[in-house]
Amino acid sequence: MNITLKGIEKAYGSFQAVKPLDLTIEDRFVTILGQSGCGKTTLLKMLAGLTEPTAGELFFDDHLIFSKARKTNVKPNKRGIAMVFQDFGLWPHMTVYDNIAFGLRNIRSKKDRRDAVNEALIKVRLEDKATKKPGELSGGQQQRVALARAIAVNPKLILFDEALSALDAILREQMREEILAIVQKIGAQAIFVTHDQTEAMAMSDMMIVMEAGNVVQTGRPEHIYRSPAHAYVADFIGKANWMKSQEGMIRPERISLQPKEHARAQTGHVRKSLFTGDRYLIVAEVNGQHWQFYDQNPHETGSSITLYVQESDIHYFDKQEASSL
Ligand code: ATP
Repeated sequence: MNITLKGIEKAYGSFQAVKPLDLTIEDRFVTILGQSGCGKTTLLKMLAGLTEPTAGELFFDDHLIFSKARKTNVKPNKRGIAMVFQDFGLWPHMTVYDNIAFGLRNIRSKKDRRDAVNEALIKVRLEDKATKKPGELSGGQQQRVALARAIAVNPKLILFDEALSALDAILREQMREEILAIVQKIGAQAIFVTHDQTEAMAMSDMMIVMEAGNVVQTGRPEHIYRSPAHAYVADFIGKANWMKSQEGMIRPERISLQPKEHARAQTGHVRKSLFTGDRYLIVAEVNGQHWQFYDQNPHETGSSITLYVQESDIHYFDKQEASSL
């Protein structure tokens, strides 16, 4: 499905939570990424119909879903969307089965309803937990119930709002895989809000990076990492090492400890070596900036170091422009 936003915006009084936005989303798994308060949830809720835009138009393929000017606002439950929230949003007094069935109240036939619940339970591998209450389940299992409730309505689009934030690191990784697999299996599209850039890069076909109500860059994770359009994006997605001028940036993996032809030598002092399991992350002070890069061995704190960077690996930005976004 093509999701098209034309001039969509949201203001609360004089404050613009989302500034006028033109955007087309057609990829399968899309993440919206940005710091707290940048407008991610507001954008997601406008797609869901839970927050009314102040202006603009929204289309799902050729269907007009919202238009301020044309006074069209398709109800949330008529948009073919399901939403999964950070706090799971489960009813504590209901069983897992009833929590999932709750969203299927408008299916008349009891059998069809039962089949839809059971099918969703199988997809999230919780068939044996149907009679349990949410409080009797682990965090990961509760998250899967929330996912089952979302997929049971057979949505074209599933919106995830910081859906993995309540889980610990290991579970988060497992659930990432599971969500990707399930979304793919049911042939739905997903938009996933997160402030975790590693999660966003690992999961998405397309990333939408937001800053202060603006979309500052969209594209494939590799493209955004390798060719950030703004200094803000460079800093926020991955690690950025800034040159003295503050306009040039180099990624850690492009820094070499070996002299290279035509490479610029930069000297500095090691601040610390952090063991990350498969290698060390070395933090060094270079021209008054903190640089981070990787090595197989630790370096002594305080030791001097020479690093080599190639001009073609340096990204240049207008920092002034970025900070005025
Ligand atoms: P987080 O990662 O912390 O959830 P977010 O990027 O999802 O943040 P939003 O919830 O979209 O941010 O909020 C964007 C901005 O709009 C924030 O400054 C927030 O305070 C403001 N905002 C959100 N809802 C309202 C509201 N109902 N009334 C007034 N301001 C609001």
